[in-house]
Amino acid sequence: MASDLYKGYRGNALACLKKFKAGVWSEVDIDSTRGEFKGIILPRSETADAEHIVIKLHNGYNIGLAVHTIVSITVLGRKEAHYKIPEKEFPIDPSKSNVKLLGTGGTIASRLDYRTGAVIPAFSPGELYGSVPELADICNLETEKLYGVFSENMGPDQWKGLAEAIGREIRNGIDGIVVGHGTDTMHHTAAILSFMVQDSPVPIVMVGSQRSSDRPSSDAAINLINATRTAADSDFAEVMVCMFGPTSDQYGLLHRGTRVRKMHSSYRSAFRTIGDIPLAMVEKDRFIPLREDYKRRRKDRNVRINTSFDDRVSIVYYYPNMKPDIIESLIDNGYKGIVIAGTGLGHVNKLLYPALEKARDKGVHVYMTVQTLWGYVQMYVYDTGRDMMDLGVIPASNMLPEVAYMKLCWALGQNHDRDEVKKIMLTPFAGEITEREPHNGYLIYQGGIPEVEEFISKYNR
Ligand code: ASP
Repeated sequence: MASDLYKGYRGNALACLKKFKAGVWSEVDIDSTRGEFKGIILPRSETADAEHIVIKLHNGYNIGLAVHTIVSITVLGRKEAHYKIPEKEFPIDPSKSNVKLLGTGGTIASRLDYRTGAVIPAFSPGELYGSVPELADICNLETEKLYGVFSENMGPDQWKGLAEAIGREIRNGIDGIVVGHGTDTMHHTAAILSFMVQDSPVPIVMVGSQRSSDRPSSDAAINLINATRTAADSDFAEVMVCMFGPTSDQYGLLHRGTRVRKMHSSYRSAFRTIGDIPLAMVEKDRFIPLREDYKRRRKDRNVRINTSFDDRVSIVYYYPNMKPDIIESLIDNGYKGIVIAGTGLGHVNKLLYPALEKARDKGVHVYMTVQTLWGYVQMYVYDTGRDMMDLGVIPASNMLPEVAYMKLCWALGQNHDRDEVKKIMLTPFAGEITEREPHNGYLIYQGGIPEVEEFISKYNR
């Protein structure tokens, strides 16, 4: 039997609309493999994908239809909506801190207007103030849209541009920076910014949202408020991620940029500090530091920006039975660095040894991390580890694989000398390597167990 996939339109959203002579604001009757839908075709956010058409149903709901499910579209008429975010002038209060919001895109950068169904990029200070008036109680906010991409499309040009913009703002005397970013790769950008921006005198706070602000359960406003407060008033002068706390929306968590990871694809509490505890809780009217070892705000510290980056680096996620051609193809294609996420304490199979030897002989820098995420690479424990060190593989301590990747790109952007690169890689610059992982930095409880269920039940009322 043919799958549903083959009944629908094959092509992108624009081509599909063209084929059926429909367009934005067309009132339509759509016959799809998911059923019949009547509504109005809405404009697409600039960060939306090209495989979906969003329509506002007559009952007021907006839905996205995958183009491949659409069998036919009948145009019934046209109903254009005009929209504008209520824009209020952002009040300036000389007694408050000055914060700059640098936007890169992601869900947090746009919202749907329920009344018209239109996509509104809420971005100028006036628009943000119109949508989140609390921001004016916190600081004087300036905004600048650097990019408008979903975060999987961030790359070296954007990371460098962002680091340079942060440097410029700090040198101009800003009191704090907020970076609006898609959540999917926020931890990658947090890692590279932690290396490219050194000695910041002020907080640099990355923020995003898992649910867009048109949804009742959106975390956009609360995350933005927490991040802006951190940038304006907190004492944490590091690159951080500020996102929803794990158990309630009463507080946000501040995670160090080199130890944070997105750990859930859809929950609002998706971010976790790995192998350590977060820096602080951000509550409505206070910051609760959870540790002491953070860089304090200091106006007289001079920021240093180093945007070196060599992107001929790859992460290889090892799986049993991996063949050496994977490594060989990287060497043959001119890659200069490989970060392996190995099993257990940092292992790969013997099949790869000749390829690793070839990498060493060709001057490719190979670093080992662990795919367990928690814990250290320890290559002295088993023969496998010792063999691999003989083949030139360097253990990267407890650096997370993505962090080691970013750091190796940054290190190779500066130098190709083996010892120099190793020195950069194994010197902690921003908490990416720690002396120990505290026992309470490892928490993965399993539901079903009575004591865990009892604990969880407190938050599920
Ligand atoms: N895919 C989006 C992004 O990372 C999701 C988000 O914004 O949270 O850009």
